[in-house]
Amino acid sequence: NNYGVNELRRMYLEFFESKGHLAMKSFSLVPHNDNSLLLINSGMAPLKPYFTGQEIPPRKRVTTCQKCIRTGDIENVGKTARHGTFFEMLGNFSFGDYFKTEAIHWSWEFLTEVVGLDPDRLYPSVYLDDDEAFEIWNKEIGIAPERIFRFGKEDNFWEHGAGPCGPCSEIYYDRGEKYGCKKPGCTVGCDCDRYMEVWNNVFTQFENDGQGNYEELKQKNIDTGMGLERLAVVVQDVDSIFDVDTIKALLNRVATLADTEYKKDGDVDVSLRLITDHVRSCTFMISDGIMPSNEGRGYVLRRLLRRAARHGRLIGIEGKFLADLSTTVIELSKDGYPELEEKKAMILKVLTQEEDKFNKTIDQGLAILNDLEEDMVKKGIKVLSGEDAFKLYDTYGFPLDLTLEILEEKQFGVDEAGFKAAMQKQRETARNARKTTNYMGADVTVYLSIDPSLTTEFTGYDSLVCDTVI
Ligand code: ATP
Ligand code: MG
Ligand code: MG
Ligand code: MG
Repeated sequence: NNYGVNELRRMYLEFFESKGHLAMKSFSLVPHNDNSLLLINSGMAPLKPYFTGQEIPPRKRVTTCQKCIRTGDIENVGKTARHGTFFEMLGNFSFGDYFKTEAIHWSWEFLTEVVGLDPDRLYPSVYLDDDEAFEIWNKEIGIAPERIFRFGKEDNFWEHGAGPCGPCSEIYYDRGEKYGCKKPGCTVGCDCDRYMEVWNNVFTQFENDGQGNYEELKQKNIDTGMGLERLAVVVQDVDSIFDVDTIKALLNRVATLADTEYKKDGDVDVSLRLITDHVRSCTFMISDGIMPSNEGRGYVLRRLLRRAARHGRLIGIEGKFLADLSTTVIELSKDGYPELEEKKAMILKVLTQEEDKFNKTIDQGLAILNDLEEDMVKKGIKVLSGEDAFKLYDTYGFPLDLTLEILEEKQFGVDEAGFKAAMQKQRETARNARKTTNYMGADVTVYLSIDPSLTTEFTGYDSLVCDTVI
């Protein structure tokens, strides 16, 4: 079968609509009233209030395709077949309605009957002592016991910060020997890309108060998550999430701009995939109102954007290219996210401005970093001083993580404490200067004391372009 990404998204939502679910639009990447998360990283994250019972859901069964950002996966991007910092998570949710039996049956029905995956290549896993889930897979679905894997907390207990959590049952797909790491014992759960985790069924039955205390929830819930890109990988039988129809078209554009071809040179391929992923992240983040800045979400955006710009340099792309690629992202994804088309002008403007700004200093910054590296080699030093790293940040716009990353490629480090101290020193100098010159004429804390709601409603990081740390 050769269903495209946009088709698979529709098929999933329609399937769960046919099982009584309300299909809801993806929520913003910016969490609403949730300080425990910087960016939405799963389908359930924006639905937390429904799980805890704080808010009443519009229906007890909901299905979504949620845009997600996982910066925790940034190091994997371009290197594994299955990780992006941006991806779409398909999910079906039950708020105190159906539980394990239905969730497992429907996931099986969708994978084997609706999209037609070979049942012999699918392997479920369950949490160590979750015999209930084991029995359903074994007795009701008919999977032999040796094909059902029992995993511990790390893999099969779902939680992200405070909130609802519980044991899970993941579904893996065997993509065949050619994707295996060939190490002895490589099987389901191996970190290589042969057995790809496609779906996670979470049986939310506990509430984590954030301090590690678990309480049984009054109502038991279902929260599932399947990466749309990974589903497309196994359905289309391609090498990685960068080879599925929509994303491949974007990657090809990157290769064209770099005047190269994909799968000719390993290092170039990593850069091609990384740029492809990061342009997707940046496009979606900006469409949700996030602006580049030096803190919080804005910093994540800036870091991804500048990281992509640097890799563009590495593979020989000249001049600005991010906005150009972003138009392709919009074209390929507007089917599921019409807001991309609506916000197109703003997205391209922000990308262009930020890339322009970085382009002015990136070459100089890279040259300086190169000199510093040579100097370190000469002196036999392994750690760049905090002042130098801060100068690269302050004068040349290199986010600390970017400097770290470039240095790590050569097994060098950065004195991060020294960096923070240099930043602190600059802040104090700026603060003192402001005191004496009455900078901008006002102290914002005055307004906060007049209207305390301003502290919770403050969206400045999302709506203002803020370039200096004040
Ligand atoms: P992995 O072990 O492969 O890193 P995970 O266990 O961290 O995945 P979950 O937190 O269970 O992933 O998320 C649910 C689903 O979302 C996964 O089964 C997968 O299909 C998808 N997914 C998770 N992380 C990513 C990512 N970085 N890029 C693309 N899809 C992802
Ligand atoms: Mg992961
Ligand atoms: Mg996993
Ligand atoms: Mg998982």
